[in-house]
Amino acid sequence: MYDDNNIFAKIIRGEMPAFKVFEDERAVAFMDAMPQSEGHTLVVPKARARNFFDIEPAVLAELIQATQHVARGVQKAFSPGGMRIVQFNEAVAGQTVFHIHFHIIPCYAGAELRTHNRDWADKAVLAEHAERVRQALAK
Ligand code: AMP
Repeated sequence: MYDDNNIFAKIIRGEMPAFKVFEDERAVAFMDAMPQSEGHTLVVPKARARNFFDIEPAVLAELIQATQHVARGVQKAFSPGGMRIVQFNEAVAGQTVFHIHFHIIPCYAGAELRTHNRDWADKAVLAEHAERVRQALAK
């Protein structure tokens, strides 16, 4: 049920560009190209897994640690009032890319989240946001 040609597998292999903010031997994080808010970031394991159910528990544990690390960077970079950490399983639940990932979605007072998976962001804005997160993670 895992398709090696999904978009995130291509990003992991370097076959598709992404605005990366973090990478180690187990995970990669990059800006969501259709962000629901400023700083919307995705954290993806390098291991092949479709969703929450087929990922190895030990790999999931590493993924959530990477997610916490990156979320701390997003928090420092954007100072939102709060943050959603979200993960969808299967299309009926909203999943559109079938390689497991966690969404880090900053929430700002008075601002509604934009619709999931709808409007592509300006690349220059994503590049600038990625740089802010990288700098925050480097501190
Ligand atoms: P999900 O719907 O939970 O599977 O999340 C997939 C996310 O990937 C959505 O929020 C999309 O905006 C985002 N997305 C789709 N294509 C790309 C891409 N090429 N680079 C970065 N994010 C993407």
